[in-house]
Amino acid sequence: MGHLVAASWPHIAYIGLGSNLADPAAQVMQALTALDKLPQTRLLKRSSLYRSAPVGYLDQPDFINAVAQVETELPPRVLLDALLALELECGRTREFQNAPRTLDLDVLMYDDLVHHEHGLTVPHPQMHLRAFVLQPLLEIAPDCVIPGVGVAAAARTACAGQQLERLEHAAK
Ligand code: ADP
Ligand code: MG
Repeated sequence: MGHLVAASWPHIAYIGLGSNLADPAAQVMQALTALDKLPQTRLLKRSSLYRSAPVGYLDQPDFINAVAQVETELPPRVLLDALLALELECGRTREFQNAPRTLDLDVLMYDDLVHHEHGLTVPHPQMHLRAFVLQPLLEIAPDCVIPGVGVAAAARTACAGQQLERLEHAAK
């Protein structure tokens, strides 16, 4: 079937969440609740919250990050559009690359799909290079294999130098 995805079949997707403005921990917690309320979508698991140092543009506050596992019947593009709409609802603006943000929601993986189109690349192209994605991902999916990349735990060792702190786990 190639990269085509059946429209109404439960799929497993992983969503990366990040925020470093306007009470970031609350933003991420609210976004997790919002994910569970997306149409045809259910939150299955979520990681602890993590604190990470900014990447790229350094003169900005630390980030709060988490990863969620959802079951969804939305095709990848529809899921991404729903996430981008949630970002906007939370006041997200895009001034420049790596700018501070109230909320960033990325489709990290969608089943075993490897897919690239304008505005949507799955798996997310940088996910295996970022401790703030890999660590929370491994917390909820220790045996995870990133399609086209390999075992997530092996990728984690390559970014061991990146500052990351696990915050107290808040029960779902
Ligand atoms: P980043 O998350 O890399 O810091 P942005 O959140 O500003 O950057 O996203 C920029 C664009 O990346 C979005 O408009 C979206 O179309 C595109 N994009 C491509 N693949 C993905 C993906 N897997 N998840 C989220 N956004 C993606
Ligand atoms: Mg993004």
